[in-house]
Amino acid sequence: MNREKSARLHEQAMDVILGGVNSPSRSFKAVGGGAPVTMERAQGAYFWDVDGNRYIDYLAAYGPIITGHAHPHITKAISEAAANGTLYGTPTPWEIKFATMIREAIPSMERIRFNNSGTEAVMTCIRVARAYTGRVKVIKFAGCYHGHSDLVLVAAGSGPSTLGIPDSAGIPQSIASEVITVPFNDTEAFREAIRVWGAETACVLVEPIVGNFGIVPPKPGFLESVNEIAHEAGALVVYDEVITAFRFCYGGAQNLLGVEPDLTALGKIIGGGLPIGAYGGRREIMEQVAPLGPAYQAGTMAGNPASIRAGIACLEVLKQPGVYEEFERLGALLEAGIRKSADAHGIKVQVNRVKGALAVYFTDHPVYDYDTAQAADGELFARFFRLMLDEGICLAPSKYEAWFVTTAHTEADIRDTIAAVDRSFAKL
Ligand code: PMP
Repeated sequence: MNREKSARLHEQAMDVILGGVNSPSRSFKAVGGGAPVTMERAQGAYFWDVDGNRYIDYLAAYGPIITGHAHPHITKAISEAAANGTLYGTPTPWEIKFATMIREAIPSMERIRFNNSGTEAVMTCIRVARAYTGRVKVIKFAGCYHGHSDLVLVAAGSGPSTLGIPDSAGIPQSIASEVITVPFNDTEAFREAIRVWGAETACVLVEPIVGNFGIVPPKPGFLESVNEIAHEAGALVVYDEVITAFRFCYGGAQNLLGVEPDLTALGKIIGGGLPIGAYGGRREIMEQVAPLGPAYQAGTMAGNPASIRAGIACLEVLKQPGVYEEFERLGALLEAGIRKSADAHGIKVQVNRVKGALAVYFTDHPVYDYDTAQAADGELFARFFRLMLDEGICLAPSKYEAWFVTTAHTEADIRDTIAAVDRSFAKL
């Protein structure tokens, strides 16, 4: 597949955009480097790059594009918003409608605030939890990404009773040392962390189904135990549902799994492809936030009619009957095809899947936490990734990023993808 123009544009980009990309995950660094593909147009389940090549898209922009690209219902909503002014700096009727829709779907979000990104939503949940509890420390699970604010870019120390170390330059050790990191799906490690730090812990930050090192569901009882142990210690439970909300059902993973947090952070899907974040939770906790309470959070762009109306339109599409059943059907078909092909070619893979989101790990060990995901063979994935790109299949350039099926994918797309997987496995 010829991608000369992409390569040329990448050289130009390197000269003016830092690293040639506006988010590091878009670079091909994790798959051996080189020019990322520069896309020019997207429609439904497909991308076209600047050289005119077509790809079936499983990146879905790292999650938000659950209805496929340029969905007519969402495009219409955005056009109408644009024609009526994109930013008011006042209350609007659409934000009330949208908050009501979200609360109906995720009842634990008794009061809601919109902002502009998942990063902001999580960052503010932590501030609110700290304001409410009067405590400082935060417990998170290893490998889970919660945006790029200082507090959550922290890696595990060497055990549950050791404090975090910054995962990025520019983050003070004093901030990192407020974070305790424990392995996902390890109730005993969490219990130990709470035993040591519980009295100082404002909140525990949880992706109820992990979406940031592939797709990793909680073991039965894990989330229930986290809730119980955290609450016993007086700490709040914050669900980061930036990836998970409206992906597996019309609601949060919390609704699918039947566990309720105190606060929830949202993003991605709820913007219908435009920038958005939202957070919310129990009324008395949310009442910490200005103008009602002493915790400050604000935003010039927050609740802008374009993002809000795109979000409403996106949820209207997802609320149609049969949407999540179809994700399950197509996801299961894709999973079965990948497994069958891997068996036929003697390639050891693990496929983790919930509905239309799946992860393919090149490892023979089940993946249930960050360490087991890290064990996946990155070199083998890099070769697979490039073979798939040449087959016209766009995946994320990372050995454990999820593949997302959208409402635009057809059974024919899935079958074409399975055939491409089979040819790629044959060449590995
Ligand atoms: N939380 C989770 C679980 C995420 O996956 C992400 C983004 N990948 C974020 C927070 C941050 O969201 P944003 O990129 O919109 O700031």
